[in-house]
Amino acid sequence: MKNLWKDLDIRVYTSNLLGRSDELVLHGGGNTSVKIRVDNEDILYVKGSGWDLVSIKAEGFSPVRVQSLLDMAKLDYLSDSDMVKLQRDAMIDKSAPNPSVEAILHALIPYKVVDHTHADAIVTISNSINGKNHIKELFPNFLIVDYIMPGFLLAKKIYEMTKDFDWDRCEGIILHNHGIFTFDDDAKKSYSKMIESVTQAEEFLDKNSSLYIPSLSPKDFDIDKLSTLISKAKGYEVVTKINTSPISIFYSLQENLKSFATRGVLTPEHIIRTKREPLILENNRDMEEALIEYMDNYQDYFDKFSTDEIILNKAPNYAVISGVGFVSFGKNQKEVDIIDDIISHTIKAILKADKLGGYESISIKDSFDMEYWELEQNKLKATK
Ligand SMILES: [Zn+2]
Repeated sequence: MKNLWKDLDIRVYTSNLLGRSDELVLHGGGNTSVKIRVDNEDILYVKGSGWDLVSIKAEGFSPVRVQSLLDMAKLDYLSDSDMVKLQRDAMIDKSAPNPSVEAILHALIPYKVVDHTHADAIVTISNSINGKNHIKELFPNFLIVDYIMPGFLLAKKIYEMTKDFDWDRCEGIILHNHGIFTFDDDAKKSYSKMIESVTQAEEFLDKNSSLYIPSLSPKDFDIDKLSTLISKAKGYEVVTKINTSPISIFYSLQENLKSFATRGVLTPEHIIRTKREPLILENNRDMEEALIEYMDNYQDYFDKFSTDEIILNKAPNYAVISGVGFVSFGKNQKEVDIIDDIISHTIKAILKADKLGGYESISIKDSFDMEYWELEQNKLKATK
């Protein structure tokens, strides 16, 4: 038992370190794990859902039998809801939170410590038009995986890709349009590999896509009018937050704003907070008219891809306003702050990726699958 606490304490410490940097993870993003021998059995202590890396404690880790997770990877198909059930059955302490949906993937990586983040620099490069080539050149000894829905499908793909695989020569994993994994038997080394890899990506961006942001002042804007309209559309009083930082104004002044600012999310789970597209207000367009058009388009998007899902609220979660910046809409202060943070990181990434030849996120279909993922909907309900 002494050993267990030490391993878990160190795991908590480096998880908090990763969580402290918002260039690595934002609001519940990313996950970490440590494999510990308990009563002659390998147990994966993996981040529990509902916990943030920055503040996670020992009780935020969910203890799951490694062998049970490895057996799940061998199944041909498993719905994500069934996966959550099986993972709960495989927990040695049922009072712990549900394990991260990436638990199977953590189990497949044959190292004691596994770190996963959505580092800005990595997803910025990956979400650029030549991202695949750049990532390959920057990380020649990494396992590089094309975008696939997180959860069982991703775990299954890694299982297939690593059947006859020399893990000793693998320095990490890059999931395109999603994030990065590092691992080691030593927590400090795994953490250091994460920092070194992300630094390498940051240096690449500094060299190839540094931004010059002029100092700009926002135009006048009637935020109260917009707030009233959005509240009416949402069916509840929204909290609004306006962001008029120089980079936000600069972003809002780009040409063809309607196509420029609607190119998708930086990492898939952001879509739950932000939706795929913002409301665009430019050329003194009538707000009400623009909002109606937005909601009609959202209905079309839903009709195109839905099978038996229930439509979410059709009103936007943020707006980009030409010459002003962007405005976020939330149920409460906490939610609006999260959206503001996510979009602040996203616009910087988009401007940088454009310098690399163009920003390109996951497809609209993949976005839909993520936005309407049953597990993500559950997660949102839990944090209400
Ligand atoms: Zn992730």
